Amino acid sequence: MKPPPFDLHMPRTLDEALHALAGGAGLNGDGEGDGGTKVLAGGQSLIPLLNMRLAAPARLVDINGLAGLDTVETTDDGVRIGALARHARVERDRDAAAVQPLIRQALRHVAHPVIRNRGTVVGSLAHADPAAELPAVLAVLGGTVEAASTRGRRTVPAADFFAGPLESCLRPDELAVSAFFPAASGLTGTAFAETARRHGDYALVGVAATVTLDDDLRVTAARAGYLSVAATPQVIDLTEAAASAVRTDDWPAVAAYARERLDPDADIHASAEYRRHLAGILTERALRAATSEALRREH
Ligand code: FAD
Repeated sequence: MKPPPFDLHMPRTLDEALHALAGGAGLNGDGEGDGGTKVLAGGQSLIPLLNMRLAAPARLVDINGLAGLDTVETTDDGVRIGALARHARVERDRDAAAVQPLIRQALRHVAHPVIRNRGTVVGSLAHADPAAELPAVLAVLGGTVEAASTRGRRTVPAADFFAGPLESCLRPDELAVSAFFPAASGLTGTAFAETARRHGDYALVGVAATVTLDDDLRVTAARAGYLSVAATPQVIDLTEAAASAVRTDDWPAVAAYARERLDPDADIHASAEYRRHLAGILTERALRAATSEALRREH
């Protein structure tokens, strides 16, 4: 299949890109009432949608020629990933993995290496697929997305960013310029677990977990973020349920607590009950692994 016809804009600067988006959104007096404008980043989700005629934008704004967006900036506070940083580049970044290991742990489950060579982390967030790994990671970590338009910039918390299946809160004239993933501080361990029919397929269920211990190895925080259970990433605070788990090894009880709080959707891939069952097993696995990692940090 070939995509439907569209006008292609290839801006060389961020300013040009934002003006092209503003024009497409009708803010410059043109572009209203047609198929709209879409940002083209890695194209790993958008191009298949065009080729299958599931989307028919009138214009594409290709941001691949913009300088300065291919960035991965790591500080003690966290990792800021620019709009053109490809999955593979981020996955290889040792500083980013040291400060927030969950990003790399999740990226290993995203599609296949060829897709990760081209697809972008920020594009994956903007695409807001309920079965995608990175939205759940951003949500469980309480990260943010920075959006820019000709009207200015705003920082959107993950809890507000994902609006529905394949729907973010980005406005038609906005470009997501970066995403910020907070650091894993102190004795924090992280882990990612998912079940997919084949490695690289979208997951039937996935979970990103973080566990923080104090110096006496008591749990001071535990969170799990789920993909493929609802229209947007679901985050459950497990701190209370996990408070005694490290010493008693009672992870099945913590997983049961999480499972009871999930209300998964059914679709052609899995029933709601099967998804809930998987979520329990994966939660236990991820929490155990995250705790082991936190304990390793202690030594
Ligand atoms: P694009 O395809 O260029 O864009 C996707 C959408 O986001 C479009 O609507 C676009 O307008 C918008 N967008 C992109 N960047 C921005 C921006 N900076 N600002 C505003 N809007 C923007 N993903 C997973 O998470 N898990 C998987 O298991 C997985 N498996 C895959 C398997 C296959 C066979 C394929 C083809 C893809 C798979 N993907 C998977 C998708 C892949 O990870 C994509 O790269 C990613 O979802 C989107 O990134 P992109 O840069 O390619 O975005």
